[in-house]
Amino acid sequence: MDGSIKVEHQKIKVPVIGWLKTYERLPYGYKPTSVTISQKANRWFISFKIELEQQTTDKLYDVVGCDLGVKSLATLSTGLVFEGAKSYRKYEKQLARLQYLSRHKVQGSNNWKKAQKQIAKLHFKIANIRKDTLHKLTTYLSKNHSKIVIEDLNVSGMLAKRKLAKAVQDMGFYEFRRQLEYKTKLFGSELIIADRWFASSKTCSNCGHKKEILSLNERVFECEKCSFNCDRDLNASINLASLAVSSTVSACGLVSADTARMKQEDNIKPTVGRFE
Ligand SMILES: [Zn+2]
Repeated sequence: MDGSIKVEHQKIKVPVIGWLKTYERLPYGYKPTSVTISQKANRWFISFKIELEQQTTDKLYDVVGCDLGVKSLATLSTGLVFEGAKSYRKYEKQLARLQYLSRHKVQGSNNWKKAQKQIAKLHFKIANIRKDTLHKLTTYLSKNHSKIVIEDLNVSGMLAKRKLAKAVQDMGFYEFRRQLEYKTKLFGSELIIADRWFASSKTCSNCGHKKEILSLNERVFECEKCSFNCDRDLNASINLASLAVSSTVSACGLVSADTARMKQEDNIKPTVGRFE
């Protein structure tokens, strides 16, 4: 058998194994550079590595700041809030119940084996829903904004934001960033990572005043200096967005940052749209 990979609509020829039929349509017309076959929760999967041409899209916004949420998945400086999927919560309950029930089964018995299979299936389902949610967010960001500014969440940053939305928490911040890195390349946008010491939450997006302390349960940012009032996550995302403006315009950076701020304020309507 020769070592080449051939792809047709619903079958693929791989080295050693030969032709395999698939349930889903395959990316026909591309030449995969590598193919990986894996098994998860009793199903077989095939994944491809393919090269794509850049597909530059028309951008709705020049700059966006994205704050990964404690309460919701993400808050954008444009006022949009991604709630994140809630549908998996019911599966999580099911999972907990199955796990509880299987504890009382004799290990290795047929009933026990059956329960283990069901548990694996549910785990897989939940993971897929979270993955899908994260993909929707990163695609929306990369397709519709020329510059995307995100925080640099290192390990200690993750600890500080312990209650980070579940989809990001479980996939890991690394996955969020990885998706953004390749999608910004694909859609012709730019990813900007804020300095990890940048106090996006503690800084007033209106006057620049920095708070000494801001506890996690303070959901509304209230500036003691200019009495500016704003949803905590929205305030953080506007600060992130203004980084892109000030970092690109060097000569009159301040002016640009201010105009950007004004523009942002015009359409500050938290939760303009919600995404499931
Ligand atoms: Zn202020």
